[in-house]
Amino acid sequence: MNSNEIDIHKELKKYFGFSQFKGLQEQVIKSILNQENTFVIMPTGGGKSLCYQLPALIQEGTAIVVSPLIALMKNQVDAIRSLSSENGVAHVLNSSLTKTEIAQVKKDITSGLTKLLYVAPESLTKEEYVNFLKNVTISFVAIDEAHCISEWGHDFRPEYRNLKHIIKQLGDVPIIGLTATATPKVQEDILKNLDMSDATTFKASFNRPNLYYEVRTKTKNIESDIIRFIKQHKGKSGIIYCLSRKKVEAIAEVLQVNGISAVPYHAGLDAKTRAKHQDMFLMEDVDVVVATIAFGMGIDKPDVRFVIHHDIPKSLESYYQETGRAGRDGGEGHCLAYYSYKDVEKLEKFMSGKPVAEQEIGFALLQEVVAYAETSMSRRRFLLHYFGEEFDDVNGEGADMDDNVRNPKTKVEAIDEVVKL
Ligand code: ADP
Ligand code: MG
Repeated sequence: MNSNEIDIHKELKKYFGFSQFKGLQEQVIKSILNQENTFVIMPTGGGKSLCYQLPALIQEGTAIVVSPLIALMKNQVDAIRSLSSENGVAHVLNSSLTKTEIAQVKKDITSGLTKLLYVAPESLTKEEYVNFLKNVTISFVAIDEAHCISEWGHDFRPEYRNLKHIIKQLGDVPIIGLTATATPKVQEDILKNLDMSDATTFKASFNRPNLYYEVRTKTKNIESDIIRFIKQHKGKSGIIYCLSRKKVEAIAEVLQVNGISAVPYHAGLDAKTRAKHQDMFLMEDVDVVVATIAFGMGIDKPDVRFVIHHDIPKSLESYYQETGRAGRDGGEGHCLAYYSYKDVEKLEKFMSGKPVAEQEIGFALLQEVVAYAETSMSRRRFLLHYFGEEFDDVNGEGADMDDNVRNPKTKVEAIDEVVKL
C-alpha cells in the first residue's frame, strides 16, 4: 500500500480521535506504509505506539508487535479493542493462553480480522507459532522497546537477539524498531542485530527545556539540605530517589518528623501498601514520594515539580528517565542530584559480583555519570551530547536552565577525601 493513496489524517481521527499527529508520527507512518524498514527514537511519552498501531489498522494483514512486558501488551490490546467493534482486532499470544484461546487467535488472524498481534519475544521462538505465522499475511513486525536487544541498553533481554532469525523465516516483511533509548551505541546495536542498516531513522529531540538541572556535592548535611529544598517548594509534588530500601525508609521518616508529608515506596513493601502510597501521591494526599527506582514506570503525574537523587543513578540513561518524570505539563521541574565519590564506589562494589562483560559496561556507564556530575559545562548540553544530539548552549531552548550556566564558578567535586561521611 502506498501512503499517498490514504488520507492518514482521516484515519487518525477515525481510530484515535486525534486531529493532529504528534512530533514525527506522520513521517514515521508514511515510511511504514511504504514498506520501509523504519527506526524510531522518541522519548517516553512521545507517542511511539501510535506509529505502528495506525498503519497496522489500515493495512492488509496482521502486524506482529514484539514487546517485553505482558502487562503493557494487555493494556495496549485493551486500548485497541476499545477503538473497534471487533474484539479480534488485537490479540496477545503468550504462554498463558488455553488451547481454545489459541485456536480463536489463529482463526481471527487467518480470517484477516486481527490487525495487531502482540507477542513476547520468548513466545515467538515457539516452533508451532512460527510455522503458523509463516503461512499468514504479515504487514510488518514492530519491535517495541528495541533497546532490549543491546547489552548497552538498560534492560538487556537475550531473547531479543533471536528475533532477526525468526523474522527472516516469516518472509520479506518490513521491520519497525522503536525505543526511547537515545545513546548512539545502543542505536548502532539495534540496527546491527536486526540487520537493518538500511532503515529510515526518525529521531525526536530529547531536550526538555523546562527542566532545571542541578548537582550538589553530597555532604553530611544532605538531610537538612533536602528538607530546606522541599520547604522552599512547599505544597509541590516531588520524588526523591534513593539507592536502597533502607535509605528510602530512613529519609521518608526524617521528612515526616520534619513536618513534610512523605511516603516511602520500594519493592520490599507489600503490593497493597505500594498501591496505596502511589495513589496518595497521585491524589495529592502527600507531597513527596521517597522511592527506589521501582517507582515511576508508567506513572503519569503531570505536575511533579522536583526530582531529587539522594544517590547518583547508575547511568545517564536512567537519570534522564527518572528526571523526565518532572514537569510533564511543561511547567517547572527541578532536577537535583547529590554527588559523592563514595556513592560511585558503592555502585562499583555492587557491580563487582556480576559477569565481567556486564561489569565493564556498568563501569563505563557510571563513568559518564561521574563526568556529568563533575562537568562545569552546560548540563543540558552534556546530557544531550550523550544522546548524540548537539545542543546550542547559547541560543538553544532551555539553555540557561542549569546550575553551571547560571553560576559558572561553582564546581562540584567529590569531597569525601576531605569530609568523612
Ligand atoms: P511512548 O510509547 O513513546 O512512551 P505512548 O505511545 O505510550 O508513548 O503515547 C503517549 C501518550 O501520547 C498516550 O497517552 C497517547 O494516547 C498520546 N498520543 C499519541 N499520539 C497522539 C496524538 N497524535 N495526539 C494526541 N495524543 C497522542
Ligand atoms: Mg511505548
